[in-house]
Amino acid sequence: MQRNDLDVFVVGAGVIGLSTAILALDAGFNVTIFAEIFPADEKSTKYASCWAGADHISFAATGALMHRLEQETFGAFMGLLKEDPLLQPNDQKTNEHLSKFYSDFRTLDANELPKTAVHGATFSTLCIDVPRYLPYLMLRFLASGGRAFRTTLPSLSALLSDRNRPAFEAFPVNSSSSPPTLHPIAVINCTGIGALSIGDVLDTDVYPTRGEVLIIRAPWVQRDSTFRWKDGHVSYMIPRQSGDVILGGTFQPDDWHPKSRPETVKLIKGRGIQAFPELLHQAKRETRNIDDLDVVEECVGLRPTRKGGVRLEIQSLAVGERIIPIVHNYGHGGAGYQSSWGSATQAVELLKSVLRSDSA
Ligand SMILES: Cc1cc2nc3c(=O)[nH]c(=O)nc-3n(C[C@H](O)[C@H](O)[C@H](O)COP(=O)(O)OP(=O)(O)OC[C@H]3O[C@@H](n4cnc5c(N)ncnc54)[C@H](O)[C@@H]3O)c2cc1C
Repeated sequence: MQRNDLDVFVVGAGVIGLSTAILALDAGFNVTIFAEIFPADEKSTKYASCWAGADHISFAATGALMHRLEQETFGAFMGLLKEDPLLQPNDQKTNEHLSKFYSDFRTLDANELPKTAVHGATFSTLCIDVPRYLPYLMLRFLASGGRAFRTTLPSLSALLSDRNRPAFEAFPVNSSSSPPTLHPIAVINCTGIGALSIGDVLDTDVYPTRGEVLIIRAPWVQRDSTFRWKDGHVSYMIPRQSGDVILGGTFQPDDWHPKSRPETVKLIKGRGIQAFPELLHQAKRETRNIDDLDVVEECVGLRPTRKGGVRLEIQSLAVGERIIPIVHNYGHGGAGYQSSWGSATQAVELLKSVLRSDSA
């Protein structure tokens, strides 16, 4: 029997919305997701989660909160790995603070470095196979009793009153679902870059960090590796179980351009095969010609970045006579996967604090 006093709305079905919705269900809430875009929809720059590599390379140097969120997430992913033997850890990567984060971090000896490198390190971490992981999260949410509706919201309060409510349809479309209540105890806002434009939030600290990457067909590539060039460009490759490899990439703040740029594609390819010749078929590695790369797709995603970092806090929203608590969970930039479970845990703790203050 569902209790209305435990109804919670989650807005957003990216990695942050789905992870948060799952943990809220696990905590005993009745959770309904509302979102414009879901996993397996056509890829869109409004949905950062479909473009990520994604690997777990800590951004902990950016602050204590991110350090904690990423550590909790790493632990949660290691738990998932035990449940799913098809997911395999990868290794490699470099950076000072990483030695504190990853237990087997080791600086490479000079004789282990590629010719062009001056410094390198290796450690074990995780790769998240995004095309497989997002549908897994969606299915896990639905199988645990969650409900979902597709809608585009002009504002968060539009969900909470009869007068302005936009049209919504059950997701998946063939699922039978009665319309959601108008009276949740709280709304969790996981709108990513949408937090910049959705009414009641309009957070002008949110901006995109454009990421242009290529998907390369190279089933023989098994390692995840990052190469930082002296001029600041970063080449990275992240293999997927399908045999595709993500080859990145760019980090362009405040750049909204939704399509790939030919000069950037050329740069990513050129630097990519210099750093990782194994992206080419063995027979073609000697000549290192960018035209020999088997490019499956040119991709552009917008990382939902926020000045001041992730927003994990409660705001009160007045809707007519009522005050509805909003739990914000957005602004994860280039670290949404690697901080997803930690952020979701924190958001559900905030949600529980709403209940406690209601009953006090
Ligand atoms: C090229 C690239 C590489 C990356 N690599 C990594 C990596 O290696 N590791 C890592 O951890 N992260 C990586 N990231 C970052 C990661 O993808 C993001 O941090 C993460 O996807 C953000 O998830 P999100 O759920 O907050 O946002 P999104 O995935 O953008 O989801 C937002 C959700 O909100 C919904 N929404 C927004 N506004 C509205 C509205 N008005 N009405 C209804 N619904 C709305 C959308 O429809 C969507 O469902 C990468 C990103 C890119 C682009």
